[in-house]
Amino acid sequence: MPLNRIAAVAGGAWLSVLAAMSASAAPSVTDVRLGPYGEGTRLVVELTGAVEFEVFALASPERLVIDLSPVDWALPERTLAFGRDGVVQIRFGRFRADTLRIVIDLAGPLIVGGAQWREADAVSGTPYRLILNLAPVPSAAFLASVRIEPSEYPPLPLRKPPPLRRLIALDPGHGGRDPGAVSLEGVKEKTVVLTFARELRAVLEASGRYRVAMTRDGDSRVGLWQRVAIARNAGADVLLSIHVDRADDPRVRGASVYTLSEEASDAETAELARLENRADAVAGTYEPESHDPDVAAVLASMTQQGTMNCSAALAELLVPELGSVAPLVTRAHRFAEFRVLKAPDVPSVLIELGFLSNGQDAERLESDSHRRALAEAILSTLDEYFQEPC
Ligand code: ZN
Repeated sequence: MPLNRIAAVAGGAWLSVLAAMSASAAPSVTDVRLGPYGEGTRLVVELTGAVEFEVFALASPERLVIDLSPVDWALPERTLAFGRDGVVQIRFGRFRADTLRIVIDLAGPLIVGGAQWREADAVSGTPYRLILNLAPVPSAAFLASVRIEPSEYPPLPLRKPPPLRRLIALDPGHGGRDPGAVSLEGVKEKTVVLTFARELRAVLEASGRYRVAMTRDGDSRVGLWQRVAIARNAGADVLLSIHVDRADDPRVRGASVYTLSEEASDAETAELARLENRADAVAGTYEPESHDPDVAAVLASMTQQGTMNCSAALAELLVPELGSVAPLVTRAHRFAEFRVLKAPDVPSVLIELGFLSNGQDAERLESDSHRRALAEAILSTLDEYFQEPC
C-alpha cells in the first residue's frame, strides 16, 4: 500500500466539528501510546477533538512523521523513549503555528499498514483517537514509501525522556449485591479482592513503572463486559482480574492463574468459570447478548492479534512468582471461558489468590505482610513480562 501520503480529513463530522471548534480552543493531544499489535506495533494518539492528519515516512535514519492540525499547544516539546516494538523514541514538537509534528524514530523499517480515526464516545469517556498500525517490511519497501522531504525539516529538541509507565487494569471481582465466595466466618470475596487490588495498585504505582486503572474502586456492581470495556478504553497494557476461590473440601488450597479458552482445562475450572460468569446474574447487571461475544470469535481475534500468546506468557510468569510466596494448586495455570478475559486486544489473566474455604489460605489472605508479598510477586511478574514485551 503506497504510504506517501495518508492524508485524511478526520471523521465524517468534520464541518460541524470545525464550526464547534471556532468558538473554543483547538483540540489538544492528551496522550501518545505505543504497544505490540500482531507482528507489528500500534500507535495511539488521543486528542480532545477532531483534527486533520498526514502521515509519511522519512529515510536515513528511518522515521515516520505524523502532522496534526489544527492542534493547540498543550504539551511541552519532548521525547518519549521506547526502545521496544520497533521504535527507538518518539519526539513531538511544534512544526508550524497550528501543527504538531510527531516523529517516530524507528529501529527498523516499519510502514503504516492501516490508519483509523475514531470519534470520541461521551458515554464511555473515550477521547478522539488516531490509531496507526505499523507493520515491519523489508528496507526496499520502506524506501519505496519514503517521501522526499523539503530541506526545511526542522530537528526537534532532544530532551531526557520521562520514564514510560505501563497501564495495568486491575479488576477486583464481584461487588455490590454479588459477594462472590463467602467463608464460613462470613468473609466475602468482594471485600478481600478490593482490599488487595488497592494495595496492589499502591505497590505498582510506587514502583514508578506502572499506572493503574481500576474496574471498580468501591463496593459497586460492575458488569463483566463493562470491566472489559473499562480496561480497553483506558488503553490497558494488561488486565489482571483478582479473585479468591472456595471449595466444598476445606483441604483444597493454593493460588491459581487462569486464561481464556473455549475448552476448559478440567471440570473444576469449567465449574469455576461458570460461577465467576454468574456474577452478572447475581448482581442483576443488564448486559445485552451482543456484549458476550462468542468465545471462538474472540479467540480467533486474539490469536490474530497475538493477545492469546501474551496472556499465556503472562500466566506462565505469574505461576512461579506467586508460587514463591504462596502455595499453588496443582497445574496452577488453567484455562476456561471466563467472560472477563474476553478483551481481544488486552492480554488478560484471572488470578485466584487462594481459597476462603481453607483455614490457612483464609488466614494468610488476612495478613498484611502476606498480601504485600503477593503484590510484590505480581510487580516482579509485570517487570519480567514487560522486559521483552509480548
Ligand atoms: Zn470470584
